[in-house]
Amino acid sequence: MAYQTVNPYTNELVKEYPNATDQQLEEALKTGQNLYEEFKKQPVKERGEILHNIASKIREKADELARACTIDMGKLLTESQGEVELCAVIADWFADHGEEMLKPEEIETTATGTAEIQHHATGVLMMVEPWNFPYYQIMRVFAPNFMVGNPMILKHASNTPTSAQMMADIILEAGAPKGSLTNMFLTYDQVTAAIEDPRVQGAALTGSERGGEAVASAAGKNLKKTTMELGGMDPFVVLDDADMDDVADIAWRSRLYNTGQECTSSKRFIVMENVYDEFVERLKENFSKVKAGDPLDPNTTIAPMNTKKAKEDLQKQVDEAVKAGAEVVYGNEPIDLPGQFFMPTILTNVDRDNPAYTTEMFGPIGVVYKVSTEQEAIELANDSSYGLGGVVFAGDSEHGAEVASQIETGMVFVNNFRYSLPELPFGGVKRSGYGREMSRLGQMAFVNEKLIVKA
Ligand code: NAP
Repeated sequence: MAYQTVNPYTNELVKEYPNATDQQLEEALKTGQNLYEEFKKQPVKERGEILHNIASKIREKADELARACTIDMGKLLTESQGEVELCAVIADWFADHGEEMLKPEEIETTATGTAEIQHHATGVLMMVEPWNFPYYQIMRVFAPNFMVGNPMILKHASNTPTSAQMMADIILEAGAPKGSLTNMFLTYDQVTAAIEDPRVQGAALTGSERGGEAVASAAGKNLKKTTMELGGMDPFVVLDDADMDDVADIAWRSRLYNTGQECTSSKRFIVMENVYDEFVERLKENFSKVKAGDPLDPNTTIAPMNTKKAKEDLQKQVDEAVKAGAEVVYGNEPIDLPGQFFMPTILTNVDRDNPAYTTEMFGPIGVVYKVSTEQEAIELANDSSYGLGGVVFAGDSEHGAEVASQIETGMVFVNNFRYSLPELPFGGVKRSGYGREMSRLGQMAFVNEKLIVKA
């Protein structure tokens, strides 16, 4: 069976889930379509009340959810707890603001009479999500689309089926009607079939470029809208007058959070030469302090990777980087524990021909580059096929923001840790994808912005 929870710390097979049948998919599509018709008649406000109930239910079951997430994909229990609370915050935010955002907007026009844009649901959506934040990835799409009245079918990652099912169950238990979010253990072919089905009106995917290309092509062939949240090689730029205590405090966390398995993880540290040695030294010091162990144990500070394959693939990438001339400044040694651990590692001397220069490493590997001018820092930050997020540290935040505005990504944080909040749009450009989740932009992603002109 493809869908399995295998605890990445103990390697134990915890639970297997059978694949959905085509008949089950057909039933889910039918239920979704019927619900879309029902949602059209329901005031948005009522769904806001249900969404608040969902937030409360998530908080009520926070311990159970957090534990299940850690067992599914291995992250630290404290990180799972943070993710669960963020889901409740997202649900509450869309419940509080969705109705207002979806109100008709009047347009000033020279046409006779009045004109307005109304915001209507479009229909059933296909949602394809990854394992790295199993609950948060669901909530980013679910909360806004539930408010607008788009029922959703979820195909979650094959290694986090327990988390996916738990969140889907909680949503129903909290009062959402059946079909609001149907979690299904679908094959890739079934995902394509769902996208081709005339009842499905769009697809949202978070994941790799490979997955994104497959889903976007199926949707494109059928002229359906998609949002794509894909990979990243986010720069972390340190200018010559940056506060190095702040930089040291944030840089290691920005790379090692979620064991580095994050799209917006700081994967490329681009550091001005006058502070380069200090930066590397302090990053090394902080990487060396982390403690591998049971992610359920509060004393553990670095968790295993999500699967054996993920660890093996990362090792291959690091080996290739070293073969191509990268210097290992810290790490890249085995950790003597049974789980899928990868030692936090720092690489330098990565030149443009090195595969590590261009390829995303989805684990605890920091690559550090030395630059001699601010312009060089910006050019290096932009020399990537990705354009998701980034961080800039500067003595003066205003100047940092000027540099940030020249970085070709969808989000940049100045003198701060990068984070995600429901009111802030999330998404990227270039091969990091298109469209935005969260915020007003996410609320409008799958809305029919319908013009009504009244004479
Ligand atoms: P992935 O392999 O693309 O998997 C993501 C989801 O897509 C999973 O549910 C996967 O199912 C599904 N999938 C993959 N190929 C598919 C296909 N041909 N048809 C239908 N579904 C398909 O991604 P990953 O490697 O696990 O996740 C890590 C990637 O996600 C990284 O590149 C990371 O940067 C990116 N990411 C981006 C964001 C963002 O917001 N921009 C956030 C988090 C992660 P299976 O599990 O069954 O293969």
